[in-house]
Amino acid sequence: MADDRSPLERLLWDKIGPPLYYCADCLRTVKVKPVEGGEPIITRPCGHTGQIMAPRKAICVGKGGASIGTRAKIGAMQIASVITGRTV
Ligand SMILES: [Zn+2]
Repeated sequence: MADDRSPLERLLWDKIGPPLYYCADCLRTVKVKPVEGGEPIITRPCGHTGQIMAPRKAICVGKGGASIGTRAKIGAMQIASVITGRTV
């Protein structure tokens, strides 16, 4: 897994934890805009097409957002604990 985070992003991860959504391939922040009853609009600055991590619960309304969060939750928690050295 690559790590393309900027120094600022790394600092934020250390201090306040990972962003609401981030790319599983490069750990950069991903914007997810919930769409009522449909798939969320996803904006990825890196252009990857892999999994999006959503480390926090209950952050997204709508069917698509909920499914992304559920699918990514466990993996994101594992990755976060490896990076930060603490259990989340
Ligand atoms: Zn990426």
